[in-house]
Amino acid sequence: MGVIKRKICLLGTFAVGKTSLVQRFVNDRFSDKYLTTIGISISKKLMPPVHGGHAGSAAQHEFLIWDIAGLEKFDPVVMNYFRGASGALAVADLTRPETVDELATIGDQFLSVNPRAALVIIGNKFDLIEDRSDTFSDYQLLAADFGSALILTSAKTGERVEEAFHLLSQKIEPPNG
Ligand code: GDP
Ligand code: MG
Repeated sequence: MGVIKRKICLLGTFAVGKTSLVQRFVNDRFSDKYLTTIGISISKKLMPPVHGGHAGSAAQHEFLIWDIAGLEKFDPVVMNYFRGASGALAVADLTRPETVDELATIGDQFLSVNPRAALVIIGNKFDLIEDRSDTFSDYQLLAADFGSALILTSAKTGERVEEAFHLLSQKIEPPNG
């Protein structure tokens, strides 16, 4: 079975939980304090097999997950950060509706660099939401605009974090598909 390296970016403005989601997924950890100094950290994770191509051949993605601090300041460095990515987890904060508009801008920029990339939209910090019947319509609209489902996650409890990364892996085209 072939292993294909795939660059994945975390998108979203300051403090939505990008670093926390990566830490939860890769190391199954959560902390209240992550460094917010500017810099890029890259984590590796082997994903479950995805099926595609002819004769149902299976392949596995090895995710190289790029997490950047300082993405909220738009500069040319951000475009270099996006380059060559196959997909992105695009994160908004369920406790801060203004992060949806910011994510729309960042998502457009990402897709202008990588038009064929897959996106999964995440509403994070679901553990802080008291009314779980809320439909989060602004978040749903953003997800629909980007051709994605909305996944409501908590990096703190781990709820649906793995599912979000796995969905992204499935949305990325197999090499001979
Ligand atoms: P980033 O700037 O997008 O990388 O955000 P961080 O991962 O550094 O998270 C910002 C703050 O939100 C930190 O204090 C985290 O502990 C907190 N945080 C992140 N995800 C969650 C979550 O799902 N639930 C709660 N309650 N706090 C979270
Ligand atoms: Mg961070």
